[in-house]
Amino acid sequence: MNIVITGANRGIGLELVRQYLARGDSIHAGVRTPERAGELAALAESSRGRLRITACDVALETSVRALAASVSEPVELLINNAGVRSRERADGVEELDLADATRTFEVNALGPLRVTGALLPLLRRSRGAKIANISSGLGSIDNTSGGAYGYRMSKAALNMASRSLAQDLRDEGIVTVVLSPGWVRTDMGGSDAPTPVTESAAGLIGVIDRLTPRDSGGFFDFRGERIPW
Ligand code: NDP
Repeated sequence: MNIVITGANRGIGLELVRQYLARGDSIHAGVRTPERAGELAALAESSRGRLRITACDVALETSVRALAASVSEPVELLINNAGVRSRERADGVEELDLADATRTFEVNALGPLRVTGALLPLLRRSRGAKIANISSGLGSIDNTSGGAYGYRMSKAALNMASRSLAQDLRDEGIVTVVLSPGWVRTDMGGSDAPTPVTESAAGLIGVIDRLTPRDSGGFFDFRGERIPW
């Protein structure tokens, strides 16, 4: 399978690359700063050309277009994984850093749309292509704990964009879903997170493998359970 993954230099993105490579797939990995993608570069060296690394900041139009231009084969799967969550945990509405919320929105909500738009011609060249947008349970409107305004809003917006993509691309046979990776032990998830990155990535891969056109427009966790919008 020919796959594009964004934010592939660490965390869930890097582990997805590892596991897809191990089973023989080919990957175009988008990374914001290739000079700081040492582990990915080591994987590329031993991949016999199946892993290619391209600079891609999903917040920048020119950078996203450069990623799309670097891919010549049809794309069967796009995983919009790149994401940010502010380190500061000042989650109350009085301390809200709106500039930070805007940056988060630019990456988490608009980034996947930008990448999808640029790669659409290559997705259209595959039969039954899939788009997996990595969101979060924190993006669910079924919100019972509050806080995290910028992050939650950015992922809720991503969820809505994914629903529109699912509707708009359904007739072309492209399946679009929103996936939550769980609470995962990465730089973002922190060391208290219960889910090892290997388990989350393996779960996500299994869910993506099993997707059918009927699933398009759905919101699933890494075990394949539906999440309330
Ligand atoms: P990490 O913080 O470990 O990794 C984030 C990745 O996204 C890095 O590769 C980072 O690159 C990349 N990235 C950030 N901004 C940009 C940008 N503008 N352009 C391109 N790449 C960018 O996070 P995780 O691996 O944990 O998270 C991956 C996805 O899963 C995210 O979308 C996140 O929101 C989601 N998620 C994670 C959860 C968790 O518990 N870990 C829970 C729910 C959702 P760089 O190294 O250059 O910063």
